[in-house]
Amino acid sequence: MNPSTLIAPPALVRRAEQQDTKAIQALDSAHYLHPFTDHAGLASRGARVITRADNIYVWDSEGAKILDAMSGLWCVNAGYGRKELADAAYQQMMTLPFYNSFFNTTNVPAVQLATKLASLAPKVGGRSFEHVFFSSSGSESNDTNVRMVRRYWDLLGQPQRKVIISRNNAYHGSTMAGASLGGMGGMHAQGDLPIPNITHIEQPYFFENARPGESEADFGRRAAGWLEAKILEVGADKVAAFIAEPVQGAGGVIIPPETYWPEIQRIVDQYGILLISDEVICAFGRLGHWFAYEKFGYRPDLVTFAKGVTSGYIPLGGVMVGDRVARVLIEKGGEFNHGYTYSGHPVACAVALANLELMERENLVGRVKDDTGPYLARRFAELKDHPLVGGAETCGFVAGLVLVKNKATNAMFDADLGVGMICRGHCFKNGLIMRAVGDRMIIAPPLVMTHAQIDEMMALIVRCLDATLDDLR
Ligand code: PLP
Repeated sequence: MNPSTLIAPPALVRRAEQQDTKAIQALDSAHYLHPFTDHAGLASRGARVITRADNIYVWDSEGAKILDAMSGLWCVNAGYGRKELADAAYQQMMTLPFYNSFFNTTNVPAVQLATKLASLAPKVGGRSFEHVFFSSSGSESNDTNVRMVRRYWDLLGQPQRKVIISRNNAYHGSTMAGASLGGMGGMHAQGDLPIPNITHIEQPYFFENARPGESEADFGRRAAGWLEAKILEVGADKVAAFIAEPVQGAGGVIIPPETYWPEIQRIVDQYGILLISDEVICAFGRLGHWFAYEKFGYRPDLVTFAKGVTSGYIPLGGVMVGDRVARVLIEKGGEFNHGYTYSGHPVACAVALANLELMERENLVGRVKDDTGPYLARRFAELKDHPLVGGAETCGFVAGLVLVKNKATNAMFDADLGVGMICRGHCFKNGLIMRAVGDRMIIAPPLVMTHAQIDEMMALIVRCLDATLDDLR
């Protein structure tokens, strides 16, 4: 099989659906090592081949139309098929496809995007974000955070402050630093992670970690207290920063109680440590705000972003650098020996600008906050009546439900049964992409979703839950 016969030019993209799926799968398993995939069985299983997309739907090589309730990988905030974004990339490629930002050089889209992001980042408690450091992904951005935090404390004459505290079940990326900051046991088990000076506390997951009879508010304060306990265990003068997602995404959409973030803020203030808000998923409208720290009212020093900044149309990430850190880096730091070839890539920045303009024009952030977000919350909460569902929560346009064996006691299924994966299988069969994290089923739909499309998605979810229940009977 000649691979070139499998690659459809854009104008012929529909013909991709008539291509031989088996042949694509054979080449795929022979040559393409996928992220987070068990390759041993890939040849016999055959990867699903996604060939095109529009609005909130994707199509596979067999012509099946699938409602993408995960926005790709939490990123296609503006939905698929947005011509403005393709035009922005084309025009920038014809004008200046690449130039680097090293050694006193810059480019116009990077400057414009940095300025735009500074204007979008809300000032909370008098702190502002006037500076941005660009990368190409969330993982790289968190590597930047580790280097920037260490540089900050070195410049302040406190080089012993090296420890970064994170949380179990967090996801902060897949590079050495990203995977170490993350709290995924499976990732730590491969390759001696975490690297030194990164340590973890428990996540604020009420369903799993609350005591019998404990209120959500009390649990939120107690969960935040785990940070204080860890600071005291490590030694307050050795702690550099605390990093957390506003709502844990890949860990299963874990929404903290309202009391959690205010108490975290009190603790980081008391001990003077830096606060990093990893908003790779949560920024750019996902929680109904441009940046999620505004929703919870805390004051981070560094904010990681990626994904939604370009709606996933092209790789771009970065760190919003708050005044506290920026001032030290700029006034005391001299040259920061750090950066990436693609920091401030002009095409990525031009696409991001077009994406942010589109989101503003269509009021996508406001819609999630005041209209479609509350509607999704209402509809998703109805799932609590389903015999398999032990809890169902939303926050803006992320949502998660937990599949339980016994609704009265919230007893979980035996993990070996893989009930979440059974449900995910039914989703695929019924034209719905929903993700399973253990027995939590989660969604993060495109922000363009309408009320009617929310209804369509909810009907599919119920159908898949019913089919899962039938399998278990
Ligand atoms: N941080 C968070 C919160 C994420 O959810 C992710 C990816 O899902 C990352 C970092 C890593 O981003 P990337 O895959 O772009 O490296």
